[in-house]
Amino acid sequence: MWTAVVSIFPEMFHALTGDGVVARAIAGGNMSLRVINPRDFAADRRRSVDDHSYGGGPGMVMTAPALTDAVREARKSAPGPVTTVYMSPQGRRFDQAAAAELAGLDNLLFVAGRYEGVDERFVEREVDMELSLGDFVLTGGELAVMVVLDAVARLLPGTLGNPASTECESFADNLLDYPHYSRPPEYRGAEVPSVLLSGDHAAIARWRRGQALARTWRRRPDLLVNRVLSAEDRDLLRQHLLQAAE
Ligand code: SAM
Repeated sequence: MWTAVVSIFPEMFHALTGDGVVARAIAGGNMSLRVINPRDFAADRRRSVDDHSYGGGPGMVMTAPALTDAVREARKSAPGPVTTVYMSPQGRRFDQAAAAELAGLDNLLFVAGRYEGVDERFVEREVDMELSLGDFVLTGGELAVMVVLDAVARLLPGTLGNPASTECESFADNLLDYPHYSRPPEYRGAEVPSVLLSGDHAAIARWRRGQALARTWRRRPDLLVNRVLSAEDRDLLRQHLLQAAE
């Protein structure tokens, strides 16, 4: 996957490219990431990319010309049509379904805003999609871009050592993940549930499904709204909710 980011703080992206899964995806050629600084396209010697907001009010606005030149330059190096995403608290809420949609695209260009945001004419003319991390306001879009890139990179075939990792985790089936345990089998009086040590794979799969359903029911009931559970899932959910209540 080809990706690029337009940001006035290119160094921030070392956090993503230095270590970890995304760094390995880039080093292994599964993903490329180019960071473009709109200041390189500023018209003045001070490399300004912001100005006062027409109509007054606090804060500065990222101006359209340098941002437009930066995204157009970035697109030139893409191998095909590019989807341009502006990170904004006013955008579609980013979730696992959005991550999967983006992972299905070939070329993604992100714009990280700063100050009070960017000139609306830039958004109207150059942006295909606005994405929000949630109902809160960050000081800039860089962290938001990195969160999205991280979530997308791990869904690309070849990024994770075991592709099954993305099939049985929270939100994969619109359920939360089941609880995980590792050694030792007993830790300060707390034991690993015996079914996980039984070697009975069918029983383990049923237990995990029941736990995932019960957790989702308790913690994120909104994920189950409008979902028709199979008779087996309903049974498992009932059993696991009853067990938890005992
Ligand atoms: N004035 C804008 C508003 O109220 O909608 C907020 C601007 S914010 C201080 C500066 C930049 O941070 C935005 O242009 C955007 O790129 C980024 N940002 C802030 N909150 C975000 C969020 N929840 N999701 C994604 N990006 C966000």
